[in-house]
Amino acid sequence: MQQSEIVQNTLERLSRESMVHAMRIHTTVRKVLGDFFREEGFLEVPPVILSPLTDPLNHPVFDPVVTYYGKKYSLTKSMIFHKHLLVKYLGSIFTFSPNVRMETEDKKSSGRHLWEFTQIDVEKRDATREDMMRLVEKLLPHLFREVKSKNAQELRALGRDLPVPETPFPVIKYLDAESSRGEDFERILSKEAKTPFWIVDIPVMKREFYDRMNDDGSSTLADMDLIYPEGFQEALSGGEREYKPERIRERIKLKGQTEEQFSHYLSAADEGLPPSAGFGIGIERLVRYICGFTRIEDTHPFPKIPGEFSL
Ligand code: ASP
Ligand code: MG
Repeated sequence: MQQSEIVQNTLERLSRESMVHAMRIHTTVRKVLGDFFREEGFLEVPPVILSPLTDPLNHPVFDPVVTYYGKKYSLTKSMIFHKHLLVKYLGSIFTFSPNVRMETEDKKSSGRHLWEFTQIDVEKRDATREDMMRLVEKLLPHLFREVKSKNAQELRALGRDLPVPETPFPVIKYLDAESSRGEDFERILSKEAKTPFWIVDIPVMKREFYDRMNDDGSSTLADMDLIYPEGFQEALSGGEREYKPERIRERIKLKGQTEEQFSHYLSAADEGLPPSAGFGIGIERLVRYICGFTRIEDTHPFPKIPGEFSL
């Protein structure tokens, strides 16, 4: 693509009516999320952009590394480890965290992937998965009510009739979902659903090493995903965390990863980490769901679309 074409495309995107509506809704979403967690007693911490320590993720992405005075830093894929260190001292924290996950170009067609996005990343010391599920069930209906009242005009212009879901949200175990709908269960169940729902007890090899393994010998995790209805799919991932150093080491090994990769985190774990639980909500996916957009790039003025060059 010519440079002039890229600039023209960007300016065209910025000038759309729907972008103005999306940004008005985005503004409400950030305010309501921040106020909600502050009122719940969470401390807002600044984001980390570069660190030797970041989320290994459970799928392959390109990994840009920056060298500074001979030391290597990754761009943050998520602040999962920083969250765990923080709650030891601060109890309950949240942050609006920019994440860079340089996805492969096959993700372009999903409509749900940007390779740079922001998540509100939340963690609470001594909390359980169920505590976090209840917190999200308090948050989302409140957020949707606020958006419906503050952005009625924008929702109307977008033709979006945003439902306020009843709580508690339905819960389905990962293995039950898979056996009832097959491999593509998340997409199928999301399409069928009229309300957000939880997928819990995800098999150990399907997630990163940091989510805590259930103690029932089932090789599943004390974790959860929230899935949006109407085919919009994943809203958040979260769970309880492994915090005992020997269990963290076992889990790293099980994933075929090296202790060296996580040496700073392991040193901190050897000093003692508390039990905790948390989750991260992708802001652009949330705005996409609220706006009812087919494609996630319509939620961002400068979207990083997998495989594409972008300003
Ligand atoms: N931060 C994690 C992620 O990005 C979510 C979590 O808190 O477990 O997947
Ligand atoms: Mg996830």
